[in-house]
Amino acid sequence: MHDHTSEVAAATWMAQGNCRNYPPEAFFPSDGVGVDRARKICATCSVIDTCREYALHNRIEHGVWGGCSERERRRILTRRRLAVTPG
Ligand code: SF4
Repeated sequence: MHDHTSEVAAATWMAQGNCRNYPPEAFFPSDGVGVDRARKICATCSVIDTCREYALHNRIEHGVWGGCSERERRRILTRRRLAVTPG
């Protein structure tokens, strides 16, 4: 859950994202080809790291964010959880 302050911060970086020039549905693809297309747009985006962390932090399930598909984000979260597990 993010508060109002982070909403404003999010709006600031989102306005710099490459995706502002594309229809939103380009980032909610229904197949692998669409995912690749969205990833390519993200690849040259200046706020890619902020975007990916935002999606990970807010557990956003759907769409391509920060160059990562839903499945990739789930994998990253799992890896991070394992990384902080003691032992
Ligand atoms: S990384 Fe991709 S989804 Fe995120 S702001 Fe940039 S273009 Fe948009």
